[in-house]
Amino acid sequence: MTRNDWTKEEILEIYNKPLMELLYEAATVHRKHHDPNKVQVSTLLSIKTGGCPEDCGYCPQAARYHTDIEGNDLMSVSQVKAQALRAKSSGSSRVCMGAAWRNVKDGEEFDKVLEMVRTINKLDMEVCCTLGMVTENQAKRLAEAGLYAYNHNLDSSEEYYKEVISTRGYQDRLDTISNVRKSKVTVCSGGIIGMGESLEDRAGMLVALATLNPQPESTPINALVPVEGTPLEEQQKISIWEMLRMVATTRIVMPETQVRLSAGRTDMSREGQAMCFFAGANSIFAGDKLLTTPNPNVDDDMEMFKLLGLEPQKAFEKKSQPQSVSAEESKYKPLNEKPKWSRPGHTIERNVEAKAKAKTKV
Ligand code: SF4
Repeated sequence: MTRNDWTKEEILEIYNKPLMELLYEAATVHRKHHDPNKVQVSTLLSIKTGGCPEDCGYCPQAARYHTDIEGNDLMSVSQVKAQALRAKSSGSSRVCMGAAWRNVKDGEEFDKVLEMVRTINKLDMEVCCTLGMVTENQAKRLAEAGLYAYNHNLDSSEEYYKEVISTRGYQDRLDTISNVRKSKVTVCSGGIIGMGESLEDRAGMLVALATLNPQPESTPINALVPVEGTPLEEQQKISIWEMLRMVATTRIVMPETQVRLSAGRTDMSREGQAMCFFAGANSIFAGDKLLTTPNPNVDDDMEMFKLLGLEPQKAFEKKSQPQSVSAEESKYKPLNEKPKWSRPGHTIERNVEAKAKAKTKV
């Protein structure tokens, strides 16, 4: 049975076990709940890149920092369809569309995203979106269009979140997840390690995720990819051992969840990734780029799968395909709500410095 009452102390005890014991325990839980030879493959597509008003310290898409990324406006439905078909032919069962928005606003652009959801659903692929904060009505509109999952990461523990982001609060993240839960869409939520957080923070993030009831259906574990121009540009990359411990601990406390290796995979050897699959990771992001940061190419991943005897999981193996209702038949209309998402606005020195530095560059 899945437990929803994990404490930080219990999670730290698991995280700090002798490695071989930790791996054995995680692998045992993994085998009980999943086929250990199947890995779910998602393709992440940045449908609107850059120019984001938020100040997330790890993110090159925040408009206030100076990074080399090329921004683009919202893609067209046909562009998205072409990319989804490519992803499907190379083994992906899910397309995750990311837009660099603070929150979803009812209107033309959201209607276009709903059409993208309908289009990908018709390709018999799982569709996921990560569009920032959403209201219950917006989540229901996405569900009705055929959305399979909504991603909204908690990023870190509630305490450390305040050291990374000042433009929105942790409670907004939790509220968005709860809005998604009121629809039929599954929840994808995870975080990033390597932002300078303590082990207590890593455990704190896992407490926040594992005590959600139900737990998220998928949890991406990202390793920070420090990008020049962002406040976290000088952060040391984490070691494979930390990743392994984090994956194994996540698997133990969230037995049913698909645990996804996400950003930072280019820095991991095949041996390292194989250990992560053994420890309970059963999902990856495929494609040359993860929004804006590099990712192994699909052919390399498929070669790795062959080497390890892994198979891509088929779409809708865990949950059936959502029905997709056309825009004309929709029973949910835009409410044009103006929810009061918070803006704590406290000072994070390194974010302020990165913003000031960006102003001196052209
Ligand atoms: S992580 Fe998302 S919300 Fe934060 S700055 Fe980047 S695009 Fe914006």
